[in-house]
Amino acid sequence: MSSDDLYPVTRLAAVREATARAGIGALLLTPGPDLRYVTGYEAHVLERLTCLVVPAEGDAFLMVPRLELAAAEHSPASRLGVEFVPWQETDDPYAQVARRLGPVAKVGLADRMWAMTSLRFRDALPGTEQVLAGSVLRDLRMRKSPAEAAALREAGAAIDAVHAQVPGFLRAGRTEREVGRDIADAIIAAGHETVDFVIVGSGPNGASPHHELSDRVIQAGEPVVVDIGGRMPSGYCSDSTRVYSVGEPPAEFAAYYDVLRRAQEAACAAVRPGATCESIDAAAREVIAEAGHGERFFHRTGHGIGLETHEDPYIVAGNAEPLAPGFAFSVEPGIYLAGAHGARIEDIVICTETGGERVNHRPRELVVV
Ligand code: ZN
Ligand code: ZN
Ligand code: ZN
Repeated sequence: MSSDDLYPVTRLAAVREATARAGIGALLLTPGPDLRYVTGYEAHVLERLTCLVVPAEGDAFLMVPRLELAAAEHSPASRLGVEFVPWQETDDPYAQVARRLGPVAKVGLADRMWAMTSLRFRDALPGTEQVLAGSVLRDLRMRKSPAEAAALREAGAAIDAVHAQVPGFLRAGRTEREVGRDIADAIIAAGHETVDFVIVGSGPNGASPHHELSDRVIQAGEPVVVDIGGRMPSGYCSDSTRVYSVGEPPAEFAAYYDVLRRAQEAACAAVRPGATCESIDAAAREVIAEAGHGERFFHRTGHGIGLETHEDPYIVAGNAEPLAPGFAFSVEPGIYLAGAHGARIEDIVICTETGGERVNHRPRELVVV
């Protein structure tokens, strides 16, 4: 996949138009997912200011520290034909942005901009209202292009390849941390650029959805929740959960695992254009509540995914946003029994013209190793 497909040069014009439509004078995009989305440039997040300034009218420019100029020129941002404005160590780049921009009533700041940077901009642009650039970019970023969908499929295949190896890593007597190290190595070997997270929740730790790794020794007869993800060189993220059992699990666990399977299927089957985010959450929640486990499913059903592991849209009660083709998000209901064990099944789903396409394909039955 080339930068031109994933980060098309035409995107900047679309962003400028959306900025103007939103009544925002300019977007100020510092390194992070918003800047990468618009330019393809994965710039270092540093205290020195790098910032793509996208005025609603007029030409965009990239403020860049002099010592980062070569890196910026070799990045995909160089394809956009925007002026690069290098600043020297003794310059005030915030004042330079303010001078070039002129008076503006409202600016949109990259959602992940450091507070330190946003406050410097507040001082440099007194009287200018600051809003989130996400108010402009979220609608664009939620609708994945065919190239972005392909990048998510590639990430899904890579994390599936890791899950395929997990049974070989899991044994009674090993610690979660030992298993987690093997998984982290496999995430990189499968083609990811970085490991974003490795959750190995054995026995009672499986009842804590965001438990990561501990020195707990895995025991025979214990279910283990394995939720893993990383970022591919494309910039796009993987995230998938499967549950394994080291030997036969307790009968009580097997019973609610079956409910969870049905709930996850129901939510995936409900995905289609026009269905609301909250209706996907409800599809999973109803199955679990009917089986009497409603209180044991205490998180939302999913989150959007793309250049960030967690981004819009959130699959949660109260979110009436209708799905549209290109929306990509997790479907990951869970059932958790405090002090005993827990389970979660997670696939990334892309909304198509007619339904939903999962990018994860590993078996969803409980895998007994
Ligand atoms: Zn989570
Ligand atoms: Zn996950
Ligand atoms: Zn997730």
